[in-house]
Amino acid sequence: MYNFTKIVASVGPKSENRDTIRDMVVAGADLFRINFSHDTGRVQGHKIDLIRDVAAELGKPVGVIVDLQGPKHRIGDFKTDKHYPLKVGGHFIFDDDPTPGDSTRVYLPDGDVLKSLKPGNRILLNDGKIEMRVERVTKHRITATVVRGTEIWSRRGFNIPDTDVATSVLTAKDREDLEYAITKRPDFVAVSFVQSGADIAAVRDFITARTSYPIKIIAKIERPNAVARIEEIATAADGIMIARGDLAVEVPYESVPAITRQIIRTCRMMNRPVIIATQMLASMVENEFPTRAEISDVANTAYLRADSAMTSDETTIGANPVNAIETMARILSFSDADTIANPYDWSRVDNTPQNDWSRSVSSMAYLNHATAIVVFAHDAGAVEMISARKPDIPIIAVCNDKMIANQLCLLRGVSPMFNEQLFGMRDGFNAARAFGIHTGKLVIVDDEKISLRTLS
Ligand code: PGA
Ligand code: MN
Repeated sequence: MYNFTKIVASVGPKSENRDTIRDMVVAGADLFRINFSHDTGRVQGHKIDLIRDVAAELGKPVGVIVDLQGPKHRIGDFKTDKHYPLKVGGHFIFDDDPTPGDSTRVYLPDGDVLKSLKPGNRILLNDGKIEMRVERVTKHRITATVVRGTEIWSRRGFNIPDTDVATSVLTAKDREDLEYAITKRPDFVAVSFVQSGADIAAVRDFITARTSYPIKIIAKIERPNAVARIEEIATAADGIMIARGDLAVEVPYESVPAITRQIIRTCRMMNRPVIIATQMLASMVENEFPTRAEISDVANTAYLRADSAMTSDETTIGANPVNAIETMARILSFSDADTIANPYDWSRVDNTPQNDWSRSVSSMAYLNHATAIVVFAHDAGAVEMISARKPDIPIIAVCNDKMIANQLCLLRGVSPMFNEQLFGMRDGFNAARAFGIHTGKLVIVDDEKISLRTLS
């Protein structure tokens, strides 16, 4: 089965073993995400080893994404495990006192948050099920009015959509995790709760001070201020993840599909890969079959011409991670092959002078009815640009560098191949044959040189 739209599989308790990882790759997973929100990075290191091992066994490039927890805020503990009642219109206090909370107050561990909040700002707790509004702010506490919600308990998530938090995008835990992760050479680092291009620059500085390996950085868009600064963030980052889980808490959920389309459009124009994430096949955490709505959501990833779809709980704590990947691959390969003219084909958004070169590669393939585009990938850049033109035929990327091959796994329509010999000989014909194409025209791209050759 061949997918144009790629699959990022999150690994967790139900899938972090060699057999399941292997079966997920065979079923169609192109990359794996290791979520550093759970445990410290050091505990997660062996998962990278497992993935590398499986990729070597299957002789196939597989991408590894290390996902940093970032400044995700949570309230502290209460005196007991029970749920404490809230009254709409009543007051509740968040403060800097680490003693356990009660029905009037709770500890907020992150001091920067207390400093950033202003009267009128919204506070959303427990995935938006509780809403409060900030009334008063003093040095050590903020007093809020309950707008929605009936009860509160320990360790609930704390989202503040209206507030630019004056905090580093890398927490102390992230720094420690990233310091360690770098030694395991992941292909990508995903950064959570990004607020600006400067956040990405800070992460890049942290990485380049420690390694010369060109680890790519994915910005997770999960805050309204990141949506507003999408061009600045896409410029600074190497890829974008539409992190719909937290995003739908921080913006009105009905706006998430529109924001998704807007971000995909921007990424297409700017030649940045984009991943759609969270709850794609959520019901498969328990069930053997997806819902009709989930099938449509996955299909839309293909129709919107995004690069990748991601699984979350389905493959970390779900009943059958391999079945979830098989299901996703099956929906994507059918939708990718749908020949009805794509209604989301924004054919002019990327009509910019800097995209002229890749547009000519794509049109040459289209006008000559080519069966594939073969690119000798001296680096990721040319392949990223050609992929962003969304040609309807496979892009075979021949690499002489394993890390580049792994990174190209993320891109729509790209089939990376690590083969120093084919790369050295610039042997486009045998690259196509290795992919399973034996006849037809090929557009072959080697640096600036573009040629049309007939394979027979
Ligand atoms: P998470 O990110 O799973 O790390 O929270 C994805 C999301 O928020 O959608
Ligand atoms: Mn998130």
